[in-house]
Amino acid sequence: MIREFDIKKWNKKKIIVYGFGHDGKIIMNGIRKVGGDAVFCDSQGELKNTNVISLEELSDFEDSNIIIGSSKYCIEIYHILLNNNISEKRIFTARNLYLIGLDDIGSGSFSSVPDYFSYSENLQKLITEVINGWSLYHIDVVNTEVCTLNCRYCGSLIPYYKHPLNVSFDSQCNAFDELLRSGCCIDVVDIIGGEPFLNQDFLRKFLLRYKDCQQIGVFQSITNGTVIPEDTTIEAMKETGRFFVVFSNYGCLSYKQDEAIEKLRKAGIPCMVLSEEDITVENNTYWIDYGELVHYDNNSNYNQEMFDKCRDAKYCHTLLNGRLYICPRIAHGVNLGLIPEQLDDNYIDLIDDENQGCTEDELRIKIGSFLKRSSYPTGCEYCNKEAGNKACRAEQLK
Ligand code: SF4
Ligand code: SF4
Repeated sequence: MIREFDIKKWNKKKIIVYGFGHDGKIIMNGIRKVGGDAVFCDSQGELKNTNVISLEELSDFEDSNIIIGSSKYCIEIYHILLNNNISEKRIFTARNLYLIGLDDIGSGSFSSVPDYFSYSENLQKLITEVINGWSLYHIDVVNTEVCTLNCRYCGSLIPYYKHPLNVSFDSQCNAFDELLRSGCCIDVVDIIGGEPFLNQDFLRKFLLRYKDCQQIGVFQSITNGTVIPEDTTIEAMKETGRFFVVFSNYGCLSYKQDEAIEKLRKAGIPCMVLSEEDITVENNTYWIDYGELVHYDNNSNYNQEMFDKCRDAKYCHTLLNGRLYICPRIAHGVNLGLIPEQLDDNYIDLIDDENQGCTEDELRIKIGSFLKRSSYPTGCEYCNKEAGNKACRAEQLK
């Protein structure tokens, strides 16, 4: 398995970024920002006169750590390195350094995030298609059902909770451990609510527990900007070296946003603030009305088409109370008792006794076939997003 490079555990052996293009330069920027140093390597002959070493010169750097510095050519680079007798143990991805290296992110803009998405998405192809591993682009780990706002079109159905609770840390971690035990690499782990800063104890403990996990690219939380992170939470964020905060930016509703950003930036935590230009279908920030949480009598072709086109079904798998769901709507709908449970259809229970006895391979097949399914789960019968009505962001219920 290709591991994520962990600069905190850097053995001081030479770091080489393979690829002198756009991605490689961002990663180099990230390495330098955290006080490291590296050289580029590239197979392009015309770069010989720059400070870029050639493929032939790579053999002079025995035991160096080699980071794949191009997403577009990551598969080719991987094969070039293996064909030049570089052991897989020396080859790394660097999603965390990529994120740190994006200058825009430090200044709070969302504009370079698509670069990061494309870097990590291409790496997934390498992991899944070439080295027979498996990976997820993104997972929501829910830490609370509680929120300070009450948005009519909340994708997590928070207004439906009459007595919202914080989520058990132990059950979520036991389930997350099983996901990792299956060998899964995850690009973005999103600790999410409700409002995630309403359960900072969970957030802190989670970050400290997984800060050194090399199967994780980066951690993030999306906040509505109404709660200030505590000093100890910020310390935990810093310890990961790869945590960033996304501010949903709901105008005057996000009344503590500026104060929170100032505090986080002072501590060196990257913050991104959604702006009007960022609200696009491509960025998945455009709100759609998924409809009331009731059973719809749409036919199966309609449901299948809706599922096939659904970004949540691909990118927003959700861990809630130790169960893994396809999307937040089904997760919270089942949790609320408003969508029938349907084990192995709407969710799999990662902490039941049966899983504990599974080998890693069995677990990988079980989780992988559940998440990468082609047919829609019955929970989709309680969704009407295909109607596609645009929803007003953060419209509050009385
Ligand atoms: S801020 Fe709004 S959309 Fe976000 S979790 Fe709370 S209720 Fe849902
Ligand atoms: S219920 Fe189905 S269609 Fe609706 S968001 Fe979830 S996966 Fe997508």
